Amino acid sequence: MTPTTFIVLAASLAGLLFGSFLNVCIARLPADESIVSPRSRCLSCGHPIRWSDNIPLLSFIALHGRCRDCRARIPWRYPAVELAMVAWSAASFLAPGHLLAVQGVDIDVLLGSFAHAAGLFLLGFFLIGLAFMDWHTGLLPNEFTIGGLCVGLFFAGVESFFVPSVRVKTFFTPEEVFIAHRFGAALAGWLLLWTINRLYTLVRKHRGMGAGDAKMLAMIGAFLGFGQGMLALLLAIAFATAAAVLLLVRRRANSSTRLPFGSYLATGGAVAAFAGPQIINWYSSLFR
Ligand SMILES: [Zn+2]
Repeated sequence: MTPTTFIVLAASLAGLLFGSFLNVCIARLPADESIVSPRSRCLSCGHPIRWSDNIPLLSFIALHGRCRDCRARIPWRYPAVELAMVAWSAASFLAPGHLLAVQGVDIDVLLGSFAHAAGLFLLGFFLIGLAFMDWHTGLLPNEFTIGGLCVGLFFAGVESFFVPSVRVKTFFTPEEVFIAHRFGAALAGWLLLWTINRLYTLVRKHRGMGAGDAKMLAMIGAFLGFGQGMLALLLAIAFATAAAVLLLVRRRANSSTRLPFGSYLATGGAVAAFAGPQIINWYSSLFR
């Protein structure tokens, strides 16, 4: 087995375990329930789920998507979240996996790549969770938005250790610039959506986006920086607009229908996380 294959397989396994835990968070956090106890129960018959029926993905397949006791359907969300987390995790660790196979790669570059992948992995955990929670309940719990923001800023600190040091003497070190950029991106994201929110509330006299969307964009900025954070927002607006037009055309919505903007922000964040630098490079090349 090549090092790359090993890293991607290990990452997929970690994704499966985190995806399983994420399902518990999605089911319980919006309802303000504990994510530690009680043990998982069938939503239909309330029977506690045996550990052997609680193995991510495999149990769902073995049980044909039904509860062993009452044969009620297990929501498709459970395997979907686990699969999404596996795919996200594998994609996150692909870059350091490839680096590992390169002969004589600089150790700081390699460690930096792993630090970034670990941050990306956790960003996926928060984004997938928030996407499903907003979709199902219209809520973006602080445990995930503010919690994710804190984790993102922590990873900005971790990644700053591996920022290549430049020879040019400046007042600030490259590490300080790196950390300040991520903090600034988080603050800018929050401030931008907070302001839009206030203006909208003043004009329309009812709330458009929630405060959770602003905290969520701050989190994306903390993990990805300013450019990719803004890209995530622009993509989210594009996706949400497309969805709104589609719903209006099919007469499935009217002007007061609430769109789960957090779900679109998560989708925008996913594209920005993996294709962001390429998209930004392509866009800026149009003006050269
Ligand atoms: Zn049951």
